[in-house]
Amino acid sequence: MSSEEKVRASQREELILHGIGASPGIAIGKALLLKKDGIVVEEKSVDDPAAELARLQKAIERSAHEVEKIYHTAVEKIGNDQAKIFEAQLLMLSDPVFFDGVKHKIAKSKKNAEFVVSTEFSKQVDQLRRSENEIFKQRAMEIDDAKNRILRNLAEAKLKSRFEGTPIVVTSELTPADAVLLSRNSVLGYVSDFGGARSHASILSRSLGIPAVVGLKEATKHVTDGMEIIIDGYRGIIVINPEEGTVKKFSERKEWCDKLDSELMSEAAEPALTTDGRRVSVEANIELLEELPLLKPHGADGIGLFRTEPLIIDSGSIPDEMEQADIFRKAVEEAKPNAVIFRTFDIGGDKIFVEDHAEQNPFLGWRGIRMMLDRPELLRDQFRAILRASAFGKCKIMYPMVATVEEVIRANEILNEAKVSLKKDGIKYDEKIDVGVMIEIPSAALMSKEIAKHVAFLSIGTNDLTQYLLAVDRTNELVANMFEEFHPSVLRTLKFIIDAGHEAGIKVAMCGEMAGNPLATVMLLGMGLDEFSAVSSMLPVLKKIIRLTNYKNARKFTRQLLKMDSAEEVKSALTEYLKTRFERIYYTTISKENSD
Ligand code: PEP
Ligand code: MG
Repeated sequence: MSSEEKVRASQREELILHGIGASPGIAIGKALLLKKDGIVVEEKSVDDPAAELARLQKAIERSAHEVEKIYHTAVEKIGNDQAKIFEAQLLMLSDPVFFDGVKHKIAKSKKNAEFVVSTEFSKQVDQLRRSENEIFKQRAMEIDDAKNRILRNLAEAKLKSRFEGTPIVVTSELTPADAVLLSRNSVLGYVSDFGGARSHASILSRSLGIPAVVGLKEATKHVTDGMEIIIDGYRGIIVINPEEGTVKKFSERKEWCDKLDSELMSEAAEPALTTDGRRVSVEANIELLEELPLLKPHGADGIGLFRTEPLIIDSGSIPDEMEQADIFRKAVEEAKPNAVIFRTFDIGGDKIFVEDHAEQNPFLGWRGIRMMLDRPELLRDQFRAILRASAFGKCKIMYPMVATVEEVIRANEILNEAKVSLKKDGIKYDEKIDVGVMIEIPSAALMSKEIAKHVAFLSIGTNDLTQYLLAVDRTNELVANMFEEFHPSVLRTLKFIIDAGHEAGIKVAMCGEMAGNPLATVMLLGMGLDEFSAVSSMLPVLKKIIRLTNYKNARKFTRQLLKMDSAEEVKSALTEYLKTRFERIYYTTISKENSD
């Protein structure tokens, strides 16, 4: 930073930005701005396209070599499973077909490689980024990263990943490669404008134990190199140019947060048993195989939701039975002796589409089990894959987006067909595999008792249930403040579903985001919920709250909550509860206050 800039920075006032806590921990240090958009691409005509193609080939090879190195570093630092993230990029860079379009364009248009690579890849990236789907965005980031890597290698510029000191890295978008490569230095934390908590880079940051705050939108605009910043990965806050008092407060906070963290992690394997002896199950939601190594250290009692749609994105099409079976087997073996609940493809809505068709309102359209029942061959293959995995450990199957009892009956019939065909083929599987239904559509909620007659468990998907009950699009920022899981109508519906399941003699789980919200834990426990399934990093906190709660008291308290008229009333009662009984957990996970 020039001396002039330094003066300007020192004159700046403290600024707090809110984003998403992607990896827990607090760090206080100097910022290092990692610039990504330094490569300026010019459009040029070339006389010799063959030479241009050779230059491109060399840049692709160098890029593949770089990713290979990153892959090996990842294996060393976080193990084989997590390093697999880089296999996809390596495959992309070594797949000649992937570059066919670009090469053809260079030959035909006689334009320089930089220009064609940049325009062709950017088109794909832009299209994927427009999606609301996290996984599409992830794929966009991978392609963008590959594009930048090739452009840099075309310019024959070196990859810079070593630096002095112990900075907090601030960048527009943290890629998985950044997270691993930069961790070879003494990085205190990661900060980025874009990204979500479930991205590959965020998962890697958690595995590497580096605090991270993502999705800050404008962090790179406000931060300059060397500026002092504080990052709070628990609450998704960064403080730029903190005042002395703020630094002191966060230093103290860091001390007790670190203490709480190690306490929670050391107790994570203990069961979620209330003080008066009610045992519930606390399980993990898994989206990516790279999350599997997080199960054991976070004390997961199994996988309560294995989302299978990401497999389609990873392979670019619907993987066949054997490909799925291999992946499912890995999850089952990792979760042993606990069970894995595999959700059949939830295609459509805000998620992936496999057929090119336009729908005016995809949320109310051809999605989840509806689509799979219309394509029974896909469902049968998936059932066969899950059943194959069931020979290696405990599996369960779950249907998403069920609206009617008939859908459950039809899906069960197809499952039976899959079992019969496997038997004919002489393949072993668990004959008694449990089947469950996600309750996430209001009609299914009201029919819980009838649905329960056909399955072994129910699992509440509060993300969709809230959206459909309140008529609030879960992906629309304009109405984000109306998306309210604590709305009395949602809470009363939850209680109705849990009671209906219990009356039918089956267990009721929850795998929507609400299950991982510590503010809701005592209430869900008090409603009689049997299983909580949430992102791995939240499990030790949930277990701690449950272990220190008296079930009978929770039931009494919940009865009062269910009588309240507004979400605000419910939330303030729950906040008071958490703040007084679990102060440290409240301040690390819920509170957005800076002054604590
Ligand atoms: C839900 O709807 O609550 C759920 C868990 O499913 P998804 O978020 O994958 O739609
Ligand atoms: Mg859902």
